[in-house]
Amino acid sequence: MSKDEAFKERHEKRMQKKKEVVDKHIEQANIEQGIVILITGNGKGKSTSAFGTLIRALGYGHKTGLVQFIKGTRRTGEVDFIKQRCPEVEYHAMATGFTWETQNWDKDQAAAIQTWEAGKPMLSDPSVNLLVLDELTYMLKYGYLDTAEVCDAIKNRPHMQTVIITGRGAVDELNDLADTISDLRDEKHAYRAGIKAQEGVDF
Ligand code: ATP
Ligand code: MG
Repeated sequence: MSKDEAFKERHEKRMQKKKEVVDKHIEQANIEQGIVILITGNGKGKSTSAFGTLIRALGYGHKTGLVQFIKGTRRTGEVDFIKQRCPEVEYHAMATGFTWETQNWDKDQAAAIQTWEAGKPMLSDPSVNLLVLDELTYMLKYGYLDTAEVCDAIKNRPHMQTVIITGRGAVDELNDLADTISDLRDEKHAYRAGIKAQEGVDF
C-alpha cells in the first residue's frame, strides 16, 4: 500500500528536522578520549555487549585485553573463540568458578587479587585501546578488591584507552567513574519459563 503524498511530505520534513538535531550533536561532541562504559542491570546482554565491542575494536586491528572475574571454569563460546582465533587479545581469567560454588571468601579474594594483578598492567599501557573487565562489579561489591585502588587505576589509564566494565550491582564509585552507563532491564528471561541455557546463546 503506498502512502499518500501529504504523509510523505510530513515524513521528509520530520527526517530533515531529525538530521539537523543529529548533525548538531555530532558537531558538539568533538572531544577525543577513551571512555569508561559500564554495562549493568539484571537483564541479559551485559557480557555479550562487551564482547561485541571487543570484536568491533579487533576489526580495526586495535589492541585489546579481556579480564574475566568470577567465571573461568565454565566453558563459553566467546572465550574459546578468542583463545583459538584471536591470540592477539591479552586474556586473563579467574579460574575458580562462581562465587556461590566455591563458598570460600579467602580463596575467592586471593583469586580476585591474582586476576586483578595480572590485568592491571594493561591499565597503564597506552598501546591497549580497549580493555574489558567482565564481571568486575562483584569484586567491588563483595569487597574482594579495594574499590579506591581499582577506580584510581581506571581513572589514571592512558588518555585514549576505553574500559568496559560489566556486572550487576555496581558500587557508586563505578557509577561516578563511568562516562556511559547502560542498565539492562530484565523484562523477561526464557530461563524463568523453564527453557534451558543453550550453548552458543547463553554460554
Ligand atoms: P550474557 O553473557 O548472556 O550477555 P549477562 O552478562 O548479561 O549475560 P550474567 O549475569 O553475567 O549476564 O549471566 C551469565 C549467564 O546467565 C548467561 O548464561 C546469561 O544468559 C544468563 N542470564 C543473564 N541474565 C539472566 C536473567 N535475568 N535470568 C536468568 N539467566 C540470566
Ligand atoms: Mg556476564
